[in-house]
Amino acid sequence: MNGLDQKVEQVRTLLAEAVRDFSPVVFASSLGAEDMVLTDIIANNRIGIDIFSLDTGRLPEETYNLMHKIENFYAIQLKVYFPDRALVEKFIAQFGVNGFYESSNARKECCFARKIEPLRRALAGKNAWVTGLRRDQAVTRSNLEVSAFDADNGLQKLNPLLEWTNRDVWAYIRQHDVPYNKLHDQFYPSLGCAPCTRSVTPGEDIRSGRWWWESPEDREWNLHVSRNSEIAHGTGVSAQTSGERSAEPA
Ligand code: SF4
Repeated sequence: MNGLDQKVEQVRTLLAEAVRDFSPVVFASSLGAEDMVLTDIIANNRIGIDIFSLDTGRLPEETYNLMHKIENFYAIQLKVYFPDRALVEKFIAQFGVNGFYESSNARKECCFARKIEPLRRALAGKNAWVTGLRRDQAVTRSNLEVSAFDADNGLQKLNPLLEWTNRDVWAYIRQHDVPYNKLHDQFYPSLGCAPCTRSVTPGEDIRSGRWWWESPEDREWNLHVSRNSEIAHGTGVSAQTSGERSAEPA
């Protein structure tokens, strides 16, 4: 068994044990490359973990195309959570439809309405959630653990790909013919909302593709940053998208 196969086996074992110990377990997929690896492993091994995505209403067309494709490809149903209509209407009334460009606060309000509130609903009643985070994606992930209690959301959080490299991810995708978001071929390392994501040039920091108009410290406000260590939203929920991706174009 080669190194990648061993890593895959470790992921399979971890996920199966999570189902045994924490059911119900859900997997939060942003449809990035790492999340497609996990989708492939979960679906092909029939591991009892439901997969969900957050449709912010501002996703790129390529992401919707991939959502549609994987349901047919794996014969699975992707659970999609939408924002609360009243929250989005309130944001637009206050800041404007693209008001997130105007200030860091407005951007965080938009992310709260379109991502954090739906995430809270997706995780309600679950005992564990799975993410595709990798340690080398950002310095803020250096202290993550493969499995640890997520105090902010009140359930166990599993990061099975934590020690995988970008090369591992793309080797798996190629070896197993895994469907992936075509934006990766256009140097989009990050697969968030269309208006807040841009392509990067080779060698550029992968984080520079997200909320590029903001200072780097503001960009840290995301789904996976603890409210104890990062900026807290007024409602007591912290936020981060799982969409920071190191793309290696095919
Ligand atoms: S990434 Fe941009 S469009 Fe998407 S929820 Fe956040 S601010 Fe709004």
